[in-house]
Amino acid sequence: MARRILAAGNWKMNMTPAEAAAFINDNKAAFASDDVDVLFCVPAIDLPAALAAAEGTNINIGAENMYFEEKGAFTGEIAPGMLDDLGVKFVIIGHSERREYFAETDEIVNKKVLKALEHGICPVMCCGESLTQREQGVTQEWVRQQVKIGLLGVDADAVKKVVIAYEPIWAIGTGVTATSDQAEEVCGWIRALLVELYGADVAEEVRVLYGGSVNGGNAAELFAKPNIDGGLVGGASLKPSFADIIHYNK
Ligand code: PEP
Repeated sequence: MARRILAAGNWKMNMTPAEAAAFINDNKAAFASDDVDVLFCVPAIDLPAALAAAEGTNINIGAENMYFEEKGAFTGEIAPGMLDDLGVKFVIIGHSERREYFAETDEIVNKKVLKALEHGICPVMCCGESLTQREQGVTQEWVRQQVKIGLLGVDADAVKKVVIAYEPIWAIGTGVTATSDQAEEVCGWIRALLVELYGADVAEEVRVLYGGSVNGGNAAELFAKPNIDGGLVGGASLKPSFADIIHYNK
């Protein structure tokens, strides 16, 4: 079965609840698509407003983070059951900004991935190398390690619900996009690792996204690559022109 392209936005710490609702209401017609899955991962406080605005549309709403414990003394954290209760079906896990500013390790990412899956929430698990690592020639080992540890304990059935986002740190928010060949090379390595871990049939079903300065001008070339199944998009997901990414093939 062919993998459906996923156009996923990551709003980061942008948009108030009122702005979130207005953005979705104003653009839902332009964001409608029969052949591309659309997802906005939004700040936790925006979730109820965004979910209400997206009701009855093709737009999926996800979270940008969650904690790996069910409940307890973890001030400021969001439990998986809280997302579940709202009807949230996707959550970004291990974005490079969480790794850099909030000290998330591969082990923490793994705990969060397992916990999200336990709650029926699809993790959008991020990985990617820094510019130094690319220059040192360790991109493949680095990304393999991130993905391998992130998926520890995830069985073949569950991994089909995981979305893996390859996001080279040097391309995030910089306006520098990896070339489609660079992006495809790493997404291909990720697919090869999935074949090793789960076999070819399962690996064929897992969506691997590219993220890093994706926009309406480069989406078509990136998404045409055999191992790139869509994009995780930061800055360009905050604008009505996100529609150009959704309609990349028109
Ligand atoms: C991101 O935040 O995941 C991202 C890829 O950002 P941008 O598209 O702005 O580079």
